Amino acid sequence: MILEYSGILRRPNHPEHESLIDGASSDSRIIRLGGRLMLRSLASSEERKQCWRSNRDSSYQRYDIQQAARWIEQILPFSLLLLVVFIRQHLQGFFVTIWIAAVLFKSNDILRKQTALKGERKMSILVGITILFTLHVVGVYWWYRNEGVLYPLAMLPPKEIPPFWHVIFLIMLNDTMVRQAAMVLKCLLLIYYKNGRGPNYRRQGQMLTLVEYLLLLYRALLPTPVWYRFFLNKEYGSLFSSLTTGLYLTFKLTSVVEKVQSFIAALKALSRKEVHYGCYATTEQVVAAGDMCAICQEKMHAPILLRCKHIFCEDCVSEWFERERTCPLCRATVKPADLRSFGDGSTSLFFQLF
Ligand SMILES: [Zn+2]
Ligand SMILES: [Zn+2]
Repeated sequence: MILEYSGILRRPNHPEHESLIDGASSDSRIIRLGGRLMLRSLASSEERKQCWRSNRDSSYQRYDIQQAARWIEQILPFSLLLLVVFIRQHLQGFFVTIWIAAVLFKSNDILRKQTALKGERKMSILVGITILFTLHVVGVYWWYRNEGVLYPLAMLPPKEIPPFWHVIFLIMLNDTMVRQAAMVLKCLLLIYYKNGRGPNYRRQGQMLTLVEYLLLLYRALLPTPVWYRFFLNKEYGSLFSSLTTGLYLTFKLTSVVEKVQSFIAALKALSRKEVHYGCYATTEQVVAAGDMCAICQEKMHAPILLRCKHIFCEDCVSEWFERERTCPLCRATVKPADLRSFGDGSTSLFFQLF
């Protein structure tokens, strides 16, 4: 339509073209209408080709996606069937896995709540959960006493090469139970530092962090003897087995070195007695600041002067720096970025499978 329109417009200005235009077909008329339009029509035919091509491509893609969806649709019921058979074959292991993982998650919650309670912890509850955790660990190991699950705890490889799913179960069981046992240790720490205020509260956080880093190091070592025995399978030739075992031990070494460094850093933090994000405030400074802690809204207890010149109780501010690195009032960065603290009583919930 644009072509027709411009053609009509041009006709009076260029009468010499008139006869040609009248006699020509519509296609040649486009050519006569000037270079610009000709190029445009050529470009549009090229575009049309490209458009057609991309349409074809996208329809091919759509076809591929449909095919893949149909394939998944067919394979899904079969894999569900396999899963049901797998669960039936390993029924006990399956339920034990769910049970101990659920207990671990719940215990982590309880422990964090008890740590957050500080001075209001009840001795009876602390002793009660300590006994419960211990009974759980002893009970599970007693149930599996004939399965050789205790060997890896002493870094001894299992006597015979275990099948793959047994390896996974063994590692998962030990990894969970070791964490549960460490929670008993943390409960004992909470009992020991029951009414800890000021420096004692900080010490409790440092001890909890140290226990957690020691646990992380031990857990990194725990799967090694099991995988060592699994990879050292001479069935596929001794060269292949020594190669895979060597590679595994190399991977392991790098991660263990990292864990050792974190543990040493946590140990060093323990020997550091002074508050590392400020100093104790003098009486004049406290009076000048109004002798009221902005966190607990009470009279200052063991007031600490931060680098940004704000003053808070030592307990309040150490609890704050468990999670934050900035001043609660002015948001200035006060605490240097260092080791992650586990002073809130939490335990890492990631499984260490290899
Ligand atoms: Zn306070
Ligand atoms: Zn501040």
